[in-house]
Amino acid sequence: MNITVLAGGVGGAKFLLGVKKYLGLEPFGPSPDGHPHQITAVVNTADDIRLHGVHIAADLDSCMYTLGGGADLERGWGRNDETWTTSAELAEYGGEAPWFNLGDKDFATHLMRTRMLDAGYPLSAVTQALCERWKPGVTLLPMTDERVETHVVVDLPGSTELVALHFQEWWIRYHAELPAMSITPIGAEQSRPGPGVLEAILTADLVLIAPSNPVVSIGTILAVPGIREALASTPAKIIGVSPIIGGAPVRGHADACLAAIGVETSAEGVGRHYGARSAGGLLDGWLIAEGDTAEIQGLAIGPIPLLMTDPLATAAMVEAAVAMAGILMLAGADSDDD
Ligand code: GDP
Ligand code: CA
Repeated sequence: MNITVLAGGVGGAKFLLGVKKYLGLEPFGPSPDGHPHQITAVVNTADDIRLHGVHIAADLDSCMYTLGGGADLERGWGRNDETWTTSAELAEYGGEAPWFNLGDKDFATHLMRTRMLDAGYPLSAVTQALCERWKPGVTLLPMTDERVETHVVVDLPGSTELVALHFQEWWIRYHAELPAMSITPIGAEQSRPGPGVLEAILTADLVLIAPSNPVVSIGTILAVPGIREALASTPAKIIGVSPIIGGAPVRGHADACLAAIGVETSAEGVGRHYGARSAGGLLDGWLIAEGDTAEIQGLAIGPIPLLMTDPLATAAMVEAAVAMAGILMLAGADSDDD
């Protein structure tokens, strides 16, 4: 089975653990040679930031470390068994962005990445090279090799003009508490999908939209020209998983992002925002949490447990998505016969 997943960082990574588990693979670490399944993740790169001269690819690293067994799952981001000496020393010098925590081990990844980027290799090739160490068992494809950066326009207290902050500054330094006037993936319009991205969507047996941030993870992937068109035309069914349970994000500040684009923070609100593929939107099916409700024209809705407490629980979510896709395929074949 070929499964292609659109993914952000932590939510995307946890979801991918469940996809591996569902396919009978070890969630943490490499997949055995010759196994018949192919999992590809198209990963958001618009959270990437260059600090201290190094290129940090936040969401790619969350996926790579988590799937490769090197993440700190408690903290939710960064390396396990991490130390923080370099960041502390940089702060003593008054180095930039002291609000952005960078672990020592994590730094090594960014140094390697930056060296390869500076030598002229595209991010996709660099990611592949870094994954030779981590063997995530999932092909991690940056959504684009071009630079895209999410900027958030805010009314900064004490400032006379509106200010555009890098997404990371808004999210980490200001905890997304400053109301966002707009959230824009700068550079997306001019970008092209990374190598393999369109093929992964067009040749998949199933496309899954991870329960990632609908605006700054999934929204930015969809902003790369060509990706929406591929999703519209793939013969695979497209099933999404809600990151919103009971009217709130499970973790993080997705509500602040949704408010900025005028979308209600609810499973129904996000489902409507993605829209039914039959009506020019993204999805064929939408998995929402038990206890939530959603009614969206043209969209199959399935309420199931949606907490990714461990890979086994997440695998059950993937199983439900596969079942939903199967039912929709049969229904489609039936109506073709009529
Ligand atoms: P980030 O890039 O690290 O912020 O991560 P993502 O964009 O991939 O995912 C963030 C989203 O994951 C948040 O909006 C959360 O609500 C969602 N999320 C986190 N844990 C869970 C979970 O257990 N179940 C569901 N359904 N969503 C989750
Ligand atoms: Ca992210």
